[in-house]
Amino acid sequence: MKYEFKVTKTTTPKQKPDINHLKFGTAFTDHMFIMNYLEGKGWHDGRIVPYAPITLDPAAAVLHYAQEMFEGLKAYKSKDGRILLFRPDMNAKRTTRTNDRICIPGIDEELYVEAIKALVKFDSDWIPGKEGTSLYIRPFIFATEPFLGVRSSKEYNFMIILSPVGAYYGEGLAPTKIFVEDEYVRAAVGGTGYSKIGGNYVASLKSQEKAHEQGYSQVLWLDGVERKYVEEIGTSNAFFVIGDEVITAPLEGTILPGITRDSVIHLLKDWGITISERRLTIDEIYKAYEEGKLKEVFASGTAAVISPVGELCWKNKKIEINDNEIGVLSKKLYDELSGIQLGSIKDKFGWTVEV
Ligand SMILES: *Cc1c(COP(=O)(O)O)cnc(C)c1O
Repeated sequence: MKYEFKVTKTTTPKQKPDINHLKFGTAFTDHMFIMNYLEGKGWHDGRIVPYAPITLDPAAAVLHYAQEMFEGLKAYKSKDGRILLFRPDMNAKRTTRTNDRICIPGIDEELYVEAIKALVKFDSDWIPGKEGTSLYIRPFIFATEPFLGVRSSKEYNFMIILSPVGAYYGEGLAPTKIFVEDEYVRAAVGGTGYSKIGGNYVASLKSQEKAHEQGYSQVLWLDGVERKYVEEIGTSNAFFVIGDEVITAPLEGTILPGITRDSVIHLLKDWGITISERRLTIDEIYKAYEEGKLKEVFASGTAAVISPVGELCWKNKKIEINDNEIGVLSKKLYDELSGIQLGSIKDKFGWTVEV
């Protein structure tokens, strides 16, 4: 192997959680990956160590100026016992772009994927085999240099932790209620919307809480300038089926270029369905609803794969989509994508990577 990571095995393995009651992101495996960066020395000492708290200087730059990024992907166990990752090279590429935006030194993309594979392999007995479950992988990088002042840090940690997660939906694909946010905004052209950095998410908490208080599970973001064009839903990308056209927001710097989004676009094109990456106003969506042309709305992301939307609320105007039922296309995309991820449907795009 081109990359060798030193391994320290835990002497106190943890009790594994009950796979019938897995909550998202609450249990972590026995080991974690860590690699350090020092200016002049570069990235060094990639290693697998027992999962444990880390120490950080109170002046560590991340705690004050939020120089931090993260990623998310999953490992699946196929019926024939293989361990599969879904397009990890895309996470590596996105990490490179995010790092560049917030001045974190780049990591070799091959090393990045090898580190993920090595850790997943080492803790592979934590991948729950039950239908719908998987091992969530969270790579993240943060500034550790102790200093106060706004400039990029000269020291960083790159870490990977793993968490066994349950089926996102207890009882099948339940449509969600989405609140269209017309007060706060998430991103603007020239900002950081396309990068997966912690700062983007702290800025979204307020409207998420507002939505929750009113009984909505997530927020649909509108553009930061005119509050007119739809962008994305919470931590997932948004798709609208109007007539025979599927529409999703274009990648113009304000939305996160989701790997699930990209995969959905590939599949739709492959099926000969019209998919447009174009600007779409919330007005156009409500008008399509009035005319009976709004067929489906769904969100795409690693956590839930495809999540159908059953209701939208914009300026107190509520519309019910597809009788609050999962749409034909949403269901087909969900089945196809999760089938490929689990190794039960032929992977003709070469998306899965065996660990
Ligand atoms: C992570 C994320 C997505 C979805 O990306 P995937 O690669 O499909 O998981 C979409 N929007 C936001 C804001 C995200 O953070």
